[in-house]
Amino acid sequence: MILSRVVHHLKAQNWTAVGLEFLIVIAGVVIGFQVTAWNAARQDRFDEAQFVENLHDDLVLAEALSARVRDRRLDRVTDINNAIETLYGRTDHEDLSTAECDAISASQYFHLNVPDLTAFTELADAGRIDIIRDQALRRALVRYQQSRAALRDNIFLQSSIAHDLPFQFPELINVDAYFDPGVGEIRGRISCDTEAMRASRLFLNAVSQNADSYDAYGRDGLRPWSDQLNQVHARADVLLNLSHEQSDTEQ
Ligand SMILES: [Zn+2]
Repeated sequence: MILSRVVHHLKAQNWTAVGLEFLIVIAGVVIGFQVTAWNAARQDRFDEAQFVENLHDDLVLAEALSARVRDRRLDRVTDINNAIETLYGRTDHEDLSTAECDAISASQYFHLNVPDLTAFTELADAGRIDIIRDQALRRALVRYQQSRAALRDNIFLQSSIAHDLPFQFPELINVDAYFDPGVGEIRGRISCDTEAMRASRLFLNAVSQNADSYDAYGRDGLRPWSDQLNQVHARADVLLNLSHEQSDTEQ
């Protein structure tokens, strides 16, 4: 239609009308692009808001799945360090405390549920991370993924080199299983012969290796991942204008 009118104006050498027709065409194209861009931006804002909601659900679930074992592992890092100090006579008590004995008997266990944040993984797989306008949240999420990979590598590495002390030294560490109705699971009642441990060079070497592994696990894997999980959650709460008390599943 427009083309036939342009041809007609060209034949009539009506240059003003030709110019006007071209301006109409160009304006139509520009408006079309603008409408498409506006619709895409509006869809991005909708998807971004939905993403942050889904991310928060993932964070709450991740904390619920990992909180109990995570806290136990973090406590164990401290207890193992204390146990080493006691074994080498650098504390004011002669025998290992119950917590120190428990910790070294379980110093070969590193496994932990390290949950994926599904909403972020899906967004990254779709190549749409750029819809997250909040730079702090983007940085925190990327660092969470990096710290999660580092923790998983660390778990694999330390598990492969740590010693199973109760099995290798049953004369030094006794484990009696019992059912704990308070937590609804089988636990081990542990007892340690501190003096005999000090007398065994082989045991001291083995427990020193485990303590070194647990220290590296806490410093390079567990704490960075745990801190990053908390940072992502804190930023999501800010964006969602949420404020909740700390509990087992929300922190
Ligand atoms: Zn929250």
